[in-house]
Amino acid sequence: MSKESRTVKVKEAADLCCYKVESWGQQSMEHTVNLLSLHGNGACTCTDFGVRCMANHKLNPARIVEYGMTEKKNPDRTRCRHLAAAVRYFANKTLKAMSDQTDL
Ligand SMILES: [Zn+2]
Repeated sequence: MSKESRTVKVKEAADLCCYKVESWGQQSMEHTVNLLSLHGNGACTCTDFGVRCMANHKLNPARIVEYGMTEKKNPDRTRCRHLAAAVRYFANKTLKAMSDQTDL
């Protein structure tokens, strides 16, 4: 499996809705993600977020644009791949907790 398509680890950090997401390029490196930043768009410490995603966010702060796919990144994205991984982690954990509390 190429390093671009492998599964990366997402770990919960100390603060609410903050995560450490493993780097695709260097397994020893982690990026810090805060899902509550920028009105729910989220923010990340990686270069893609700082350069591309922030520039797109500033053009239209009310719009959240997902990363896309590794082979076809959305050029208008406001979320990097680390944010996408953290949002998926958060959604899956939340859905499981909601399901466990429901008698359906
Ligand atoms: Zn990132």
